[in-house]
Amino acid sequence: MDKRQFLKTSGVLVTGSFLSRLAHAQPDGASHKTAKPRTNWSGNYTYHTDNLFEPTSVAELQQIVKDHPSIRPLGTHHSFNGLADSTQAQVSLPHFKDISLDAQARTVTVGAGVRYGDVAPVIDAKGFALHNLASLPHISIPGAIATATHGSGLHNKNLSSSVAAIEFVAADGSLQTLSRDKDGDKFNGAVVNLGLLGVMTRITLDVEPTFQIAQTVYTDIPFAELEYHFDDIFGAGYSVSIFTDWQQGRGTELWLKRRVMPGEKLDTPQLFYNAKLATRDLHPIPALDAVNCTPQMGVPGPWYERLPHFRMNFTPSSGEELQTEYFVPRADAYKAIRAVETLRDRITPHLLTTELRTIAADNLWMSMAYQRDSLAIHFTWKRQWPEVQKILPLIEAKLAPFDPRPHWAKLSTFKGDHFRKVYPKLADFKSLVQQYDPNGKFRNELITTELYS
Ligand SMILES: Cc1cc2nc3c(=O)[nH]c(=O)nc-3n(C[C@H](O)[C@H](O)[C@H](O)COP(=O)(O)OP(=O)(O)OC[C@H]3O[C@@H](n4cnc5c(N)ncnc54)[C@H](O)[C@@H]3O)c2cc1C
Repeated sequence: MDKRQFLKTSGVLVTGSFLSRLAHAQPDGASHKTAKPRTNWSGNYTYHTDNLFEPTSVAELQQIVKDHPSIRPLGTHHSFNGLADSTQAQVSLPHFKDISLDAQARTVTVGAGVRYGDVAPVIDAKGFALHNLASLPHISIPGAIATATHGSGLHNKNLSSSVAAIEFVAADGSLQTLSRDKDGDKFNGAVVNLGLLGVMTRITLDVEPTFQIAQTVYTDIPFAELEYHFDDIFGAGYSVSIFTDWQQGRGTELWLKRRVMPGEKLDTPQLFYNAKLATRDLHPIPALDAVNCTPQMGVPGPWYERLPHFRMNFTPSSGEELQTEYFVPRADAYKAIRAVETLRDRITPHLLTTELRTIAADNLWMSMAYQRDSLAIHFTWKRQWPEVQKILPLIEAKLAPFDPRPHWAKLSTFKGDHFRKVYPKLADFKSLVQQYDPNGKFRNELITTELYS
């Protein structure tokens, strides 16, 4: 690891404890103020308030919420846009760290400060797993489920789909619970909540028996293979990702994550739809060292050390970057890929990598995969916002025939009209929000622009 990587990694690891010292809520409800501007994980977005509260109990949180006419929940600040921002106050729950497994019910209940990387080894040690993970384990569970964060897999729904219950503090300070068993379709509206229902304090997730994954990487997969074999290729493993720089009509890397039984030998041919078997571990951004990545070369390992691309104690992705992602119907996947490809010479100079993933349809009202089996076309950009800002409308215009749904936590230029068009349950979601937050306490500028303009 070079010095820059080391410093970045240390930064990621100390952020939680550093902020808790600086921003721990005081008994009188005041918060300490940080000395330097507070930014999101990538550093591309500066929050508009220094007022960060980190209560240590539900009662303390309830008082903070009651006392503030405007406040926004904050997780591990990995969003690339202003979704978690506020001009008044933010509240984060890194001290809510409890993890309680119910083996009988096959659920685990976690405090809102728990990250996927915290809970995974705990449940794995007891013989259980979550159905899927995102590319990184560093994100908080409430931040992920509030934004429909996802991994890949033809048959895998997003991470929010495994939520069985949520507990949250609503705008009036009351503690509320909603569950899949008791609340029916209302619960489908409440899980991907964008932080608008209240501050989630505890979340119950489904678990399943633990499993092992072997990760194999292929290079140079021709896009032409996707025209007739899209489902075969993306269905060849439990979770499959294709990375591309959009040049030469091919994916640069294909990451095949296959479930494997202990002792089972998987068939790993040298050629996979004309892509070549990699001979060493690779990073999704070819120029970067694979030391930060989870093990490849078909070596089996626990689900939580293979489903994410990046290791827990290392910097995920590149660090200094921007991210954008659009969901289109899987039935249009090939056409959508080829449509974006026409912009390759505009895109590539500003791109670190693109990732293509599939997500199974769900019934969560504000999920990007709501009632649509989806392809997600993701862009990790260099941190060149003036240039990227000009390219996004071009990509959005190319994808317009497919009614793209942008990732809630990433950068896009879509406004209110578009969200009304692509989210058929938006009006119902707003009515649900109204029940728990009648005066818009949890709204902010981005939410107003996208959902209330
Ligand atoms: C390197 C990198 C890789 C990524 N990879 C993926 C990926 O593979 N797949 C994917 O889908 N996304 C990915 N993302 C995006 C990421 O999953 C989202 O940004 C997610 O929201 C991060 O969670 P967070 O806790 O950091 O959220 P924050 O940015 O802190 O908050 C996001 C939203 O959650 C809300 N929220 C947070 N905590 C609470 C709470 N306690 N109660 C209510 N609402 C709350 C906030 O109000 C805000 O609306 C990636 C991001 C990065 C930086």
